[in-house]
Amino acid sequence: MAQADPLFEPEKLRILLVGGGGREHALAWKLSQSARVEKIFVAPGNGGTTTGEKTVSVPVAAEDFKGLLDFAVKNEVNFVVVGPEQPLVDGIEGIFRKAGIPVFGPNVRAAAMEGSKAFSKDFMARHSIPTAEYRNFTSHSAAVEYVKSVSHNVVLKASGLAAGKGVIIPSSKEEAIAGLNDIMVSKEFGAAGEEVVVEEFMTGQELSILAFSDGYTALALPAAQDHKRIGEGDTGLNTGGMGTYSPAPVATKEVEAEIMRTIVQPTIDGMRKDGIPFVGMLFTGIMLTPTGPKVLEYNVRFGDPETQSLLALLSNDTDLAEIMVACVERRLDCVKFEMKKEAAVSVVLAAKGYPGSYPKGDEITIDALPPNVYVFHAGTKATPEGKVVTNGGRVLAVTATAPTLKEAQALAYKGVDCVHFEGKTFRRDIAYKAFLQEEQQKPQGMTY
Ligand code: AMP
Repeated sequence: MAQADPLFEPEKLRILLVGGGGREHALAWKLSQSARVEKIFVAPGNGGTTTGEKTVSVPVAAEDFKGLLDFAVKNEVNFVVVGPEQPLVDGIEGIFRKAGIPVFGPNVRAAAMEGSKAFSKDFMARHSIPTAEYRNFTSHSAAVEYVKSVSHNVVLKASGLAAGKGVIIPSSKEEAIAGLNDIMVSKEFGAAGEEVVVEEFMTGQELSILAFSDGYTALALPAAQDHKRIGEGDTGLNTGGMGTYSPAPVATKEVEAEIMRTIVQPTIDGMRKDGIPFVGMLFTGIMLTPTGPKVLEYNVRFGDPETQSLLALLSNDTDLAEIMVACVERRLDCVKFEMKKEAAVSVVLAAKGYPGSYPKGDEITIDALPPNVYVFHAGTKATPEGKVVTNGGRVLAVTATAPTLKEAQALAYKGVDCVHFEGKTFRRDIAYKAFLQEEQQKPQGMTY
């Protein structure tokens, strides 16, 4: 066999991972398994990214582009991975590209697919990608006239980034008109509401499809579903997400194939044709409507907490760093990309009071975890004394993988019992929706 030519030995990666949530801890965990990765600096990171063999948290904020670039240059960073949407929408990719450091993540124009819902709706219309009927408005009076004129129920969306808020689902025309007033006149969501998308209300199951892309090829992870409400049975206030599971039984092989054929691949192709090739992680929120899958929204980055479940499902010898580099180098069709034939469940542990006000600074202790159980920190902080304390509303997620979703669910809750902190709050029913679906779907069978 020919010897490997040392001249072609790929460069070791010194990665700057931007962000500080559970998503970033999961990314750091999977990236650190790559033989090619030498070091991962997580800015600002959290209590879980502070003390890895290869991983270290650095005290630079995700919005501080100058601080991040200075740090990267001083520390010989040669690859940047961006977790959250705001820096991408604000153009972080261009800052590093101009300094010669490649970024896994879209440029500022491609990031508008998340930064402007009006832009993404026009994109979908231009490329015949299935989505709800809509109109975009910057004029309040025109929006009110439109709402009065349509016969369907509507959803109102502030077009810009509104930290996961910005969507109003009115239950009457009067409420819709009041909602337009809140967004466009009272400016409840600030500048994000200067333009508003008014779209048709859709019914159906929601799915998240996350796909790596190099601008040509799309490699999708298994479909995930999440639980946004704080209370069991999907009740109570909305949160950043209380748990996820994957694969979602409702996403049969046929449904997944239809989504790739009618939505994900046309999106990647359409963006390239429009001169904004998408490099990074495209996260498409989809509604399975009675007339087929339709796009709810695009996100231009990994989801949180979907990522915690999905990365745990990548096979042990699938190298996340190689996949990300291949995206940047436009050769995603050449990488190894394999999933474990298993299911994953992630349960978020929150601080007492979340999503309202909650305490911080309570010590977290974790007993020895069973095999195939992982703890991904989010709102945690390492203290100088070497303890880890709570530092946010969603404190951490416990993820488990197992041959079936039922087993993964049971194992995740065994893991939850191993984590201790004052006021630990979580839902005991994560993934319950999947089992309702399983019952309904018998005997057609499921993807896994
Ligand atoms: P978005 O940020 O656009 O994904 O919207 C947030 C949430 O609002 C979605 O996850 C859906 O639950 C709901 N939603 C958004 N658009 C619609 C729609 N057209 N019909 C029904 N529900 C919607």
